[in-house]
Amino acid sequence: MDRQQEFVLRTIEERDVRFVRLWFTDVVGSLKSVALSPAEVEGAFGEGLGFDGSSIEGLSRVFESDMLLKPDPSSFQILPWRGEEEPTSRMFCDVLTPDQEPAAGDPRWVLRRQLEAAGEMGFTCYTHPEIEFYLFESEELDADGLPRPADRAGYFDHITGSVAQDLRRQTVSMLEAVGISVEFTHNEVGPGQNEIDLRYADALTTADNIMTFRTIVKEVALQHNKFASFMPKPFSEHPGSAMHTHFSLFEGDTNALYSPNAEYNLSTTARQFISGVLTHAPEFTAVTNQFVNSYKRLWGGGEAPSHVSWGHNNRSALIRVPLYKPTKGGSARIEFRGIDSAANPYLAYAMVLGAGLKGIRDEYDLGDAITEDVWSLTTAERKALGIKPLPGTLHDAIRQMEDSELVAEVLGEQVFSNFLRNKQQEWDEYRVNVSPWEINRYLGTI
Ligand code: GLN
Ligand code: MG
Ligand code: MG
Ligand code: MG
Repeated sequence: MDRQQEFVLRTIEERDVRFVRLWFTDVVGSLKSVALSPAEVEGAFGEGLGFDGSSIEGLSRVFESDMLLKPDPSSFQILPWRGEEEPTSRMFCDVLTPDQEPAAGDPRWVLRRQLEAAGEMGFTCYTHPEIEFYLFESEELDADGLPRPADRAGYFDHITGSVAQDLRRQTVSMLEAVGISVEFTHNEVGPGQNEIDLRYADALTTADNIMTFRTIVKEVALQHNKFASFMPKPFSEHPGSAMHTHFSLFEGDTNALYSPNAEYNLSTTARQFISGVLTHAPEFTAVTNQFVNSYKRLWGGGEAPSHVSWGHNNRSALIRVPLYKPTKGGSARIEFRGIDSAANPYLAYAMVLGAGLKGIRDEYDLGDAITEDVWSLTTAERKALGIKPLPGTLHDAIRQMEDSELVAEVLGEQVFSNFLRNKQQEWDEYRVNVSPWEINRYLGTI
């Protein structure tokens, strides 16, 4: 047993922890949890905890259903919303096969593999997510069949006595209680829409943090009799919920994306990374924007990117290079604006990183930054500038992903085919569904 494992066992005893939850994630990014009694934890650290992997979406094939959960002791935390009495704790897990090999279907492993690939090239990858979500009165809809936002506030609005403010404050303290630092919180543009930005961390920790974040936001909302949702686009007429993520690559203590005298302070490595991400973005959009509803955000305005471009201070761009105050040692990072708040963070980050690393490895050239607002250009103007669209629907995204060698390589064959199967099913259900919009539009007029 190593020292971190010993520390966990000691804490469980000292704090009289009653339950230890083992957390992991399925292929679409739903959090899975199994509660262990403290006496079982030592065994789980040893050979792992056995479970039936075939009941988890996309994890394993039926003929190899036995799987093991191996808790990561560095992620041990007491869950603050469960109260001080009979404390409950959690650890994130890696999923293993019965012969102790990483399970090919485990999203955490998919990301680990990309981080290892980055490591072999000498890079550590840090990420900083800006997570948007909506707060509703409840899950129940109003008379028009629309969700009921918890407030009418807009961007950066300060409202006295606002429940969102209390909620965000409580969310931040809970996040901090489980070791997740928050940089920024504010009301977003839509009614009831909020944003919380987490402090940067290595990409695996960030993905774990996002899973914890979603749980905490939902728990806190419920405690206030509200309802939080990470649905990409709950209202046609209001902006969707993005999960912009800033990526940086470090070689030791040096920011590998920074170059003092270059345009926007971007090093050659940074330009190649951006080019890799842009070149492959249409192929991996099914992963960063995985639901039918995700495409209503991408194509519904509200500052969401619908085309492949990069820019310096251009909010219509898929990649934005933020302006920085000069800092000691130099700083540069890349904001990828495509991901929505309902993505599986492990798979989404593995894809962006995998595409960027490919750009570096194969020394991709980067085209010019776009200074125009991409939305206001005509199709012909976009064509002339070489600006391609992102997929328009989940169907389109699936078709582009199917043909992608890069996505198959980054996800691994098993996740690749499970993911595509899951998404094709979703599309097939959607395309035969007659929506209220159609009834409204056609019934009385045809
Ligand atoms: N909500 C917008 C989106 O869906 C982003 C808004 C912003 O933070 N600039 O992309
Ligand atoms: Mg923001
Ligand atoms: Mg925002
Ligand atoms: Mg942003």
